[in-house]
Amino acid sequence: MGGYDQTLEPFLWRAETIYPDREVVARTHEGINRYTYAEYADRTRQLANALDGFGIGEGDRVGTFCWNHDRHFETYFGVPNMGAQLHTINPLLPDKHIQHIVEDASDRLIFLDPSLAEKLGSASDPDAFESVEQFVVVGSTVPDVSLEPLTDYESFVSDQSTEYDWPELSEDDMAGMCYTSGTTGKPKGVEYTQQMMWSHTMAMLTPQALGIEDSDVVMPVVPMFHVNAWGMPFTATAAGAKQVFPGPAPEPADLASLIEEEGVTITAGVPTVWLGLLEYMKENEVDLSSLEQIVIGGAAAPKAVIEQYDEFGVDVIHAWGMTETSPVGTVSRLTPALTDAAFDTKVDKWGKQGLIMPGIEFKVVDDDGSEIPHDGEAFGELLVRGPWVTTEYYERPHANETDFDGSWLRTGDIVTVDDDGYIEIVDRAEDVIKSGGEWISSQELENAIMAHEDVSEAAVIGVDHDRWQERPVAMIVVADDVDREMLTDELKTMLQEEYPKWWLPDGFEFIDEIPKTATGKFSKMDLREQYEGKELLEEDAPADAAPEDD
Ligand code: ADP
Repeated sequence: MGGYDQTLEPFLWRAETIYPDREVVARTHEGINRYTYAEYADRTRQLANALDGFGIGEGDRVGTFCWNHDRHFETYFGVPNMGAQLHTINPLLPDKHIQHIVEDASDRLIFLDPSLAEKLGSASDPDAFESVEQFVVVGSTVPDVSLEPLTDYESFVSDQSTEYDWPELSEDDMAGMCYTSGTTGKPKGVEYTQQMMWSHTMAMLTPQALGIEDSDVVMPVVPMFHVNAWGMPFTATAAGAKQVFPGPAPEPADLASLIEEEGVTITAGVPTVWLGLLEYMKENEVDLSSLEQIVIGGAAAPKAVIEQYDEFGVDVIHAWGMTETSPVGTVSRLTPALTDAAFDTKVDKWGKQGLIMPGIEFKVVDDDGSEIPHDGEAFGELLVRGPWVTTEYYERPHANETDFDGSWLRTGDIVTVDDDGYIEIVDRAEDVIKSGGEWISSQELENAIMAHEDVSEAAVIGVDHDRWQERPVAMIVVADDVDREMLTDELKTMLQEEYPKWWLPDGFEFIDEIPKTATGKFSKMDLREQYEGKELLEEDAPADAAPEDD
């Protein structure tokens, strides 16, 4: 047929050609680095020459173990443009997962930050990392760690020529790779083709998604080691925007000063980052006047955060995604019919995970595989498919059988869809409670219980039940001086007002703490294991635990 493939290289070419003087700024281990797209593009070609000289070629995997900075960004185009595959590794994972990931992906070379060298070293027992032929420290000092052979980035790159003929690649060539965080088992590898990254970038550029323009100043706080910082470095390059990278473990004070000094207009990260900045702003004067949008994702954006930033004139753009979806799948923007709606209605919509991005499709199905009505009430599992949604995991045939339905990815997220098309996550598939053939959202009950001032933490889990399959039990953490009996009565009354009778927990257990995962989320898997086989249901629990009895 002949034709033109969808690859990343034209984005870099355009930025260098049209915006040679636009800046790339990074907070690094050694201070602020600043250069232009013209210089950046030269650096990517020097990097390609260095990798080429080392013997890295098309199809080889190159790992990174780095924070968000200019050198890491150089690998973002330098590695995929030469036909190799960029494998970003998450340093926050447990050692055994890091070991598994590097071995599973057979990385040949790894770039690592000096401050993360010890972590990578400790993840490597004597037989681990056999595939890795070279470690390259991205900094001027080479730390004393057991990783060998070890060199530093500038020695590796800076003497190389700035000329490099990028090969003509196919859009099916592998460009990127990232592993899921493995909450329910070993991390699973997701590979991104050139075409997946190209189409995700183009969709992210649309006003329905981030709508980034050349006049924007873009600062991804979301780590570049996890799902390409939500693709922002690619999208910003495609737009010709100025880029700002916040560097190793940025604190709220670092973010505030970068926003002020560099004139950041759009930034992105998980909710805790933006809660942290709000806290910091209570004690410190921060000028947010340049900032127009904060993209929040990875976990639900609390409505209070959306409202507080709105007071500063900053729009919170709530987005949902997964490693498997490159990663952005939905964005909560208002449709024209809602632009004049009451503020509360708008906040309600912004608080949802949002509308499906142009280019991908979704459906929501119940246990029998039937599609649920879009009424904002019924819920089921979200399935998605599209150009930047993966259709398989790397060398995981078992997961490929269970997590995909043909071209559809089973997201494991349980959602509602309202009549305006806004998707809202109500639970994870493994946590939703199935009672009498209907589903109860454990997250909703938890949030309702945690709204009581005496409750510090609460998790709701499903417990096996002869008649109803499963029934909800609330596991609650309170201070020592709280009267538990009185609290239980109050919670029952409170929940009764808001929820149908069959949703009410059949047991209220008071426990010392709720087990957490490595990333600080409640680990209901551990909680369920701890309480397996224990008698948790109250004897006089209601017999009407299904909707038809309500
Ligand atoms: P993992 O590495 O575990 O796959 P991801 O970073 O891919 O982690 O996380 C994907 C999951 O995170 C989604 O399936 C969803 O449960 C949750 N998630 C992502 N964005 C949001 C959001 N805006 N609101 C609520 N949950 C979210």
